[in-house]
This record gives sequence, C-alpha cells and structure tokens, in this order.
Amino acid sequence: MSRPAIVWFRRDLRLRDLPALLSAAATAPRGVALFVLDDALLRPAGPRRRSYLMRCLHALDDDLSGRLVVVRGDPADAVPAVAREFDASEVHVSEDFGPYGRQRDARVAEALGDVPLVASGSPYAVSPGRIVKADGTPYKVFSAYRRAWFDHGTRPPAHTGAETVEWLDSAGVKSRVPIPEPEDVTLPPAGERAALARWREFVADGLGRYATDRDRPALDGTSRLSAHLKFGCIHPRTLLHDLRDHRGDGAATFRSELAWRDFYADVLHHRPDTARKNYNRTFDAIEYDTGPDADALFTAWCEGRTGFPIVDAGMRQLLEEGFVPNRVRMIVASFLTKDLHIPWWRGARHFMRYLADGDLASNQHNWQWTAGSGTDAAPYFRIFNPTTQGEKFDPKGDYVRRWVPELRSVVGRRVHTLPDGPPTGYPAPVVDHAHERRTALERYGRIRTTN
Ligand code: FAD
Repeated sequence: MSRPAIVWFRRDLRLRDLPALLSAAATAPRGVALFVLDDALLRPAGPRRRSYLMRCLHALDDDLSGRLVVVRGDPADAVPAVAREFDASEVHVSEDFGPYGRQRDARVAEALGDVPLVASGSPYAVSPGRIVKADGTPYKVFSAYRRAWFDHGTRPPAHTGAETVEWLDSAGVKSRVPIPEPEDVTLPPAGERAALARWREFVADGLGRYATDRDRPALDGTSRLSAHLKFGCIHPRTLLHDLRDHRGDGAATFRSELAWRDFYADVLHHRPDTARKNYNRTFDAIEYDTGPDADALFTAWCEGRTGFPIVDAGMRQLLEEGFVPNRVRMIVASFLTKDLHIPWWRGARHFMRYLADGDLASNQHNWQWTAGSGTDAAPYFRIFNPTTQGEKFDPKGDYVRRWVPELRSVVGRRVHTLPDGPPTGYPAPVVDHAHERRTALERYGRIRTTN
C-alpha cells in the first residue's frame, strides 16, 4: 500500500479548488486531512474569530465525513508527529506569506526532515511577490499595482482531482483532540458551503448596486465575504472567475477591492516590519497622545461612548458582531488617530481582537492608510468629519439607531447632530472636532511629509 500524503489545512478551509489538495492527490491516492490548533495564532484572535474558525473546522470535518484530524500544539512538533504516525510521504500546504506563517513553515519543514513540505497556491488571486515593477522592485502605489494585477490575470478554478482522494480514518490518531465547540457569539454561517451560498446570493442581489451601496452602512450592500476569504472557505480566484462575464460598475469595483486585498498582502510580504511599524518611517516622528487622559479616550472609543454617533455605532457593531462596514472602519480609524491623537497600532490591535475577518495585512495597512503612514496614504490633511460623514453615508440615521439604542428615539438624520443635546444615557462629545482637526494638522504639518 502506498504511503499517504498529508494535507495540512490552515487558511484554506475548503475542498474545492484547493491547489494543495490537488497536488497531494496527484502524488498519493490516500490522504490525511490535518488541522493544528496553534496557540500562537489562537491566543490573539479573540472569541469572535476563534469561534468563526471553529465553525469552519466543524463544516470542513462534516464535508470530510468526520475524517479531519485536529491536534493541538506547536506545528513544528505536531505536524511531524502526525506524519510519523501515518508514515506520510509528503505534507501539502497552501503557501502562507504572513510573517509568522513563513517562519513557522520554515521550522516545520526542518522538523519534517526527509518528508517534504510542499507548498502550492496561496490565499490570494495573485500570490505576494509575483508582481514586480520593470526594475524588479515591488509596487508602492495601488493604482499601478492594480493595472499590473489585471494584466497578470488569474487562472480558472480547478475542480477535478480532489474527489479521488481516500481520506484516512482519524479515529486512532493518538494526539487527536475534538474540534472545540464555538463560543456562543452571533456569527454568520461558516464554512465552504455557506461561503458559496453567500457569494451566489450577493451576485444575484447585491453586485449590481455594490458600487454605490457599499458606502451606505445601513443598506448592508457589501458581500460580507471577508471572514470566508480570511479562512479560505472561498478563494478570490472563484470570485474573479464568476465575475468574468459581469460588466458594470458593481463588478469593476468588486474586482478592485480584491486587488486591494492582494496588494496589502504583497506590501506586507516585502515589508514584514510594517505589521507593527510605519510603512513611511517619516511618520515615526508624529506626536501622539499618551497617559491616563489618552487611555480614557481610548476606552471611550473601544466601548462606543465617544458622543459621536457614527463612531459609536461602528465601535458597538464591532463588539457585538465582529464586523464593521468599510466606510465606518475608515471613519472610526480616522477619529482615533486624528481626533483623539492615539496611534494607529492601538486601534489596529483592538480591531484584530474583535474582527471575525481580522487579517494582519488588510488590517494594519488599512489602518496605516487612514493614519497617513502607509502606501497610497490618505493625504495627512484629509481628516474625516465624523458628523458630516454620518450625514452623508447614513442619511436617514438608520445605521446609528440600529447600533446605539440610546439614540433610537431621535428621528432621521438629526441622530448625527443631536441638535437638542444628547438624550439621557448618551455621552456628550468627548472632544471638539474642529479643535482636534487643527491640532492634527499642526502635528502632521510638523513632520513635513512628502505624501
Ligand atoms: P466587500 O466590500 O464585499 O469586499 C469584498 C472583499 O474585498 C472583502 O471581503 C475583502 O476581502 C476585500 N476588500 C474590500 N475592501 C478592502 C480593503 N480596503 N482592503 C483590503 N481588502 C479589501 N479587511 C479584512 O478582510 N480584514 C481586516 O482586518 C480589515 N481591517 C480593516 C481596518 C480598517 C481600518 C479599514 C479601513 C479596513 C479594513 N479592512 C479589513 C478592509 C475592509 O473594510 C473589509 O475587507 C470589508 O469591510 C469586509 O466586508 P465585505 O466582505 O462585505 O467587503
């Protein structure tokens, strides 16, 4: 009997169009489906993302008829142990381009000894590092990257081969642990089938209006695929392939958003230091506030108690749902960095703890975009006015009323300005926006950025 190959699942929790699985199937007819519960990744995730992951694992295990082998520990110990137990010939993975993933995979490859760790495919339509400028250096500006990304193209999804794998029974595996039960938090359905169903629903009902509705948080006009994409329940290649016959602004804008996702992964790949540090190091000199007053403001922001309705609505949605629409993410991020003068990395850490779709590349670089320190950064003088942003993008006030119960009796768009003062139980604004705007401009002006 030939030796089985292991498919080690990480951020690719699906069975369709999975290059790692196809490559395993090409080498061995028998497979072992493995997932490692790695505390280094689980600990910072927060209950929402952990729960989402557990639900994805349950869904994958169902699709594998209960044959997913789940073990806990450092992958450098756990993967070789399972390989020995099954006498596996190879371990197949999707390539991980994140700073931790690359370093982990190097350790696992070494620990596996003469059992090769074979990487095929990645979580991206175009893998990081693949697109470079004519002079061989990485792109630093999104519009140029996107043009090259479109020119590069993606291959069509592959659907054949995986069904030929005979998954080995995992019942006897010594180190096997049950998939932890998800914590009791509200989340959309998880797993490959849920992702495909949501995608089809969005193409039928949302795509046509996406270009305009995506900025209107009350309309829920976006795909809500971010957590599915984060865990690889669906691959962007599938989405791009399905969009190939769709014309119009909706499909064009959607493709562009997928290009942003790839772009930020590419940026992080070339500059892993930017997970923690400013991409544009000029911004290291910017003055941020610290100390007890700044901490109190940070807490008010985290809890959605700043007295700025659209900010508070977004921050409460984050706590309750683990999701915030993109427009509102930009508003709350601008408010933290430019009205409260608190460094972007504090906000980014809070987001990473609570977002179900929390993704290092997309999160840190969108934060840096807002703070002005990233690639393509918003010019430092672009400071969102949270009140006018609310009036413009939530013109009827429905989004704010949905998430801030204290404001439910305030009618229409007045919910953004509260002309009669804050109702009982709702705080007065913690800062004066006009004043903080001037302060931010002075501080940003002082570092004389070239952006
Ligand atoms: P849709 O509008 O339907 O877009 C489809 C997909 O395109 C998304 O699922 C996502 O994968 C990708 N996408 C869309 N916008 C962006 C963008 N600006 N940057 C990168 N990819 C994008 N996205 C994350 O996936 N994880 C994060 O941790 C994250 N943190 C963010 C933090 C801030 C401060 C900001 C401003 C944005 C952040 N985003 C993040 C990007 C974006 O807000 C979310 O991807 C989007 O809101 C998810 O909702 P959706 O799936 O309905 O998006």
